[in-house]
This record gives sequence, C-alpha cells and structure tokens, in this order.
Amino acid sequence: MKILDKLLHNKGVLILIILIIMGSSVDILFDPINKTIDIVLPTSVLAVTIYVIFSIWREMGRTKKELTVNSQKLSDIFETLDVAIWSHDLETDTLLITPGIERLYGYPLEAFYQDKDHWKKVIVLEDMPIISDRVQRIANGETVTSIYRIVRPDGEVRWIQDRGIPKMGPRGNMVSFSSVIFDITDRKESEDRYQSLVEMSPNLIAVISRGRIDYINKAGCSLVGENCPSELTGQPIEKIFPAKVLEEIRTIEQKRVHNYESLKTVEFEVNRMDGKSIHVEMSARPIHFEGRFAVQVMGSDITLRKESEKMVEFMAYYDALTELPNRYKLREHLNTILGQAQNRMVAVLFLDLDRFKIINDTKGHMVGDLLLQKVAKRLEHAVQGDGMVSRQGGDEFIILLEDTDKSKASGVAKRLLDALASPIIVDHEEYFVTASIGISIYPTDGVDEETLIKHADTAMYLAKERGKNNYQFYSSDLIGLSSRKMELENALRRALEQDEMIIHYQPQVELATGQPIGMEALLRWKHPRYGIISPLEFIPLAEETGLIVPLGQWVMRTAVLQNKAWQDAGLLPLPVAVNISVRQMENEHFVDSVCDVLTETGLNPKYLELEITESIVQNIEKSTLILRLLRVLGVRLSIDDFGMGYSSLSVLKHLPIDRIKIDKSFVDDIIYHSNQGAIVKTIIDMGINLHFTVIAEGIEKQEQENFLIRNGCRIGQGYYYSPPLSVEYMEEFLRKNTP
Ligand code: C2E
Ligand code: MG
Ligand code: MG
Repeated sequence: MKILDKLLHNKGVLILIILIIMGSSVDILFDPINKTIDIVLPTSVLAVTIYVIFSIWREMGRTKKELTVNSQKLSDIFETLDVAIWSHDLETDTLLITPGIERLYGYPLEAFYQDKDHWKKVIVLEDMPIISDRVQRIANGETVTSIYRIVRPDGEVRWIQDRGIPKMGPRGNMVSFSSVIFDITDRKESEDRYQSLVEMSPNLIAVISRGRIDYINKAGCSLVGENCPSELTGQPIEKIFPAKVLEEIRTIEQKRVHNYESLKTVEFEVNRMDGKSIHVEMSARPIHFEGRFAVQVMGSDITLRKESEKMVEFMAYYDALTELPNRYKLREHLNTILGQAQNRMVAVLFLDLDRFKIINDTKGHMVGDLLLQKVAKRLEHAVQGDGMVSRQGGDEFIILLEDTDKSKASGVAKRLLDALASPIIVDHEEYFVTASIGISIYPTDGVDEETLIKHADTAMYLAKERGKNNYQFYSSDLIGLSSRKMELENALRRALEQDEMIIHYQPQVELATGQPIGMEALLRWKHPRYGIISPLEFIPLAEETGLIVPLGQWVMRTAVLQNKAWQDAGLLPLPVAVNISVRQMENEHFVDSVCDVLTETGLNPKYLELEITESIVQNIEKSTLILRLLRVLGVRLSIDDFGMGYSSLSVLKHLPIDRIKIDKSFVDDIIYHSNQGAIVKTIIDMGINLHFTVIAEGIEKQEQENFLIRNGCRIGQGYYYSPPLSVEYMEEFLRKNTP
C-alpha cells in the first residue's frame, strides 16, 4: 500500500502508467483478410495497468477524503486523454468510467452511468452483429478486441476500438469486466484508404509467411489465372510463385532483415492456370503482418512491355520483309562464331540475285517484295539448318556456315542455286530467278568479319562476270574487283559521250553451204585504261544503272545506220541482229524508238532482227504486246541464249517469235559432255516442230557443225566461221561475199 500511496501522490508515475497504456497501443496491425485494424495492447501490460488503476480506485474508497482527492487527480489525467476505461465490478455492481468517454462518444459521462447499455445504443446498426459476437465471447471468458462505429449526437460517425477483458471467478462466472476504448477514426480511415489501394491495385500484392499465402489481392489472383483470393489464401507459396521468386522470399526470410532496401526484381514467364503464357515482374520485401515477420510480394504483368521489347529487338536484328536475321544480326553472329572458331573453318556465302533489279523496276516493288520473301524461304529451306541465312538488304543475302570446309560450302552453294531453279509464282505469274554466290573461307580468306564479307562480295562479282547463276570462291587474284566495278559504273556514264563504244559484227552462216545469211551486232567498250571490256561485264552494270536504255538505243541506231550504209554501198545485204535488254524493251518508248530509227534511216525492217532473252517471259503480258507491235513494224524477233532456264518452248510458242538461238553451252554439250548432244537435239526437234528457225551459237568445231546439220539445224554462228569483226573487217567480209 505504501507503493500505492506513493503512486497516488506521484503524478509523474501515474502519467507513466497512462503512457504505458497509450504507448502499448502503438502497435497497429492491419488485417487485410478481415479488413480490420488491430491495435494491440499487450495483455500483460493492460492487465497490470487495469489492476493498478483498479487497486487505486479501491484504495481510494478507503477514506472519503482520500477518494475525493484521488478521484479528482485521476479524472484530471483521464480527461486529457482520448481513451476511456470502463470498469465494472459485477460482484459489487460498481461501475467506473473514465471521463474520456465524453470526448469519444460526445455524450455526458452521466448518460453512461444512468443507462449501462447506452454505449450499445449509439452503435451503427450494421455493426451490431460484431457486438452480439463479442458479448458471447466475453461471456465465455475470452478477451475480445472489436472495432465498430458509433454515431455521436451531432451525427458524426466515429470508429471505436474496444478491448474487453473479462475476469472470471472460480465457478466460471464473470466477476468483473473492463474495457479500454479508443477512437481510431483517423487511423481507420487512412488504413481504409490503404486497404482500397491494395485491393484496387492493378498489380499483384501478396503477403507470405511461414511458407503460405496469407493474403493476395484480386489483381494478384487474376495475374496467376485464379478467380478469387479465397482460393489461394492459405495455399503453399509454391503453388503460384516460381523458383526464382521463392528463392528471393527465402533469402529475405533467412536474413530477417527489416530494412531490406535493395529490392531485387525478378522477371519470369508463367503459364497461367487458364493456359495463357505471360511475363511477370516481381519483387519482395519484409513486413510485419499480424504481428509476425512476413514477406510482401509485389508483381505486375509485363507481357506488353516484354512484347514491345521483343519487337524492338526484332526490328533491330531482323529484316521485316523476310523475317530473316538482318546485317547487324549477321555481323554479331559472325563475330561470335569467329571468336569460338579456333581451328575450324567458317564460310561466308554472299548471294546476290541476278537481274533482280529489272524485275523490281518493271513489275513494281510489290512483286519484288513478294519475290524476295519467297526467295528467302527457299534459301532457308536449302540451307536446312546448316547455317544462318540473313538478308543484307536489297537482293543480297549472306549465308554463314560454321565448322565447315570448301567442299561442304560448295555443296550448300549448289543447293542454294538449285533451290531457285524452279520458277517462283507471284500473282499467278512465273518468275525465273537465279543467283550469283561468292564464298570466302575463314581463316584463309580473312580472319575478321569485315574482310570475310568483303571478300565474299568480291567473289560474288566474279560469279556475275562468269555468266551468273554460279558460285565462286574468293582468291587473292580478285583483289580490286569490286573497286573496278565501281570505277566502271562511273566510267560507263561517260563512255558514250567520249566515243568509247564500238560495235563488232559477227556473221551468221548457213551451215550446209557456209554462206553468210546475217550478222549480229555485238557491243564493245574501249576503256581508256582497261582496253576492251566484255559486254558480259558492263551490260549487267548498264542494266543495273538504267544506262542500258540510251546505250541500247545507240547500238540499234548505229547498227541500223551501218547496215543501211553497206546496203547503199552495194554490198551484200544481210540482216543485222541487235541484242535488246529486257529492261530496254520494257521502256515505254521502245517501240517508238525502233520505228523512228527505221523511218529515219530508211532501212527495210526485214533487215533488222531483235534478239531478246528468255527473261521476257517474266512479264509475259507486256512482252507479248510489245512483240506484237514490233511484228507489225516488220522486224524479225529471236530469242537469244535459249535453254538457259527461263522459259519452255511451250510458253514461247504463243509469242510472235521467228527464231530461237540455242545457247553456246548446249552447243558445247555436243562434244564435251557424256550425253552427246541429247539436249541440243531435243531443242532442235521441238523448235522445228513449233516452226521456229533454230540458230546454233558458239560453234567452234566441225564436229559440232556435223552434228547440228545431222539433226536439222540449218543456221549457225561461231568462231568456226568467224569471230565478231570490227566495222572495217566486216566490210571486207561483206565485199568478199558480194557476188
Ligand atoms: P550473245 O548475244 O549470246 O552473243 C554471243 C556471244 O558469244 C558474244 O559474246 C560472242 O562474241 C560470243 N561468241 C560467238 N561465237 C563464239 C564462239 O565460237 N566461241 C565463243 N567462246 N564465244 C563466241 P560477246 O560479244 O562478249 O557478248 C556477250 C553477250 O553480251 C551477248 O551474248 C549479249 O547477251 C550481250 N551483248 C553484247 N552486245 C550487246 C548489246 O548491244 N546490247 C545488249 N543488251 N547486250 C549485248
Ligand atoms: Mg545475242
Ligand atoms: Mg546468245
């Protein structure tokens, strides 16, 4: 009692007690499951406090004087606090209520003394079930903390937290009852706001402890493909979190660090319970949940972000048209494999489509694009996973072969060329595409990406020079080839003005008699530095640059003028055949230009023959129209280099064609190959059946002549009779043959 006396007279100690009560209430726990806030007042502290207060009260009852003094002191203290204590000794039916209740409820203290159920009557109706449950549990001796709302006389609704502590007697009956009442409105409102933020968050928010899911919000459920949180609450964490996240959770749990600043974010792909695959980003951090250590996991669906990242990566490393790896990807990959190559060989195959530009220019980019897509598919199929096919841009592709050798690279190159052998159909039209391939090999032709690509490119030019539709390996002899190409391209633009172009004429003869029956005009370029340059080298350049149109026009005009001049000079009149490039023929002014030249020179149209390659079938409708117009003009039409793969005779039979010129390679076939001219024989037979005049080109030997005559070919051209002749020599040739 001495201690009590001291306590009663020591205001400081009393305040301390109250502060213990208040201080102990600081532990506010949010319970997202029941959506309640629990203000934990440790039972021990509370019991001691209440006991002390109770004892003080009892002690105070001893003497009236003392009681009055002490009661005054207590009420002074309690009046200053937003807390009320309700204490009811059921045995003596003594009720004590601290005056703070007035501030909490807004009703005078007397109201509670007068009507012991007054506190109940002001409770919001919907919260009454909480009270029934509470009364029941307290009657059973349980300490119960309840949160409910009350209505003040001015209509304001306040949140109350009420912790009721029963004291049971030996017979199990309640002997006293105390309760500590707080106004938690401010906190509750802020917690409610937080609660709804969590609930309404579009991201996953979950609380995990002891290996189980304590809480998960709705967004979290839908993220993992579940319907409602109740299906996941209490479930083991392995059920929804992948190994990466579990690992992170365990690290946090093991370390038990509270200021776990460096939130580690993990990304992963999950197959949701509804079968959809999504990308998720998650991070975890330690928290307190229901008084224990827990881990809060936050996650969001980053599928869209991942998709756009993928898209960006795709755009950076893949070609949008063909979906093949692009030049950057190729270079990156080549660098990687060179880094790991050690003693193994790597092959770089530089593939360029032959005359693709012409198709693109004449048929339009739409057709060009579709064609490139189909070519890309064929190339990929041909490589069959042996290497990487990439598109460099335009009609250039690079194929990389790892761990290879020269013969394997040849094999792949052949497969690539074969893959393009059959026509490609775009928009119901057949296109014949060939390619030239240059190959460089690591380490012999270069050890770095740049050199290997450059050398493969150079070798590709050699393939073009060697008649296209073939492949060539790089060799150091080729150094400077591509720079020569660039130089020629520039020089070609000025060649005509600078009178560097000349025409040679090669006679065509009747095989049986050797009598000249025509001539072919063949263009030559007298380059000031390189001397005579073959048309095989510069015609493709002229086609690529479009210079073929003025150049071809010049050839036709010059050849026609020359022919007319020879005829006017009384020399043997022989038709002249002029080579016409497809690109030139498809120029809208082509027919007019032929007409103009004939009118201007006065040459009889029957002395002009136009040699067109089979590639005209690539644009059969337009070609047919042009050929018909030319036919009307009266000029002769022939198909040059027949048999090189662009068309079949059955296609040509519908065109107004007079002659077909069998390509030199078939004539070579007569003596050099094992099938001994079987192909050329078939071509001659078919040509004759279709009423074409068949001309054999490149005859160099008598055996060839014999074979051709035997098989019904009547006309030929070749070194065996005469090489192409300069104007002077041709004039002499004509003079000799003029009767
Ligand atoms: P092409 O029209 O097939 O011309 C025949 C080619 O074979 C000519 O080569 C000719 O010199 C060559 N030749 C003739 N007889 C023999 C022989 O017995 N043996 C060998 N090995 N070759 C022989 P050239 O003059 O180098 O012309 C090559 C190609 O260039 C021509 O092939 C033609 O497609 C093209 N070309 C030439 N001049 C022109 C032109 O003015 N315009 C166009 N668009 N192309 C032309
Ligand atoms: Mg020709
Ligand atoms: Mg030819």
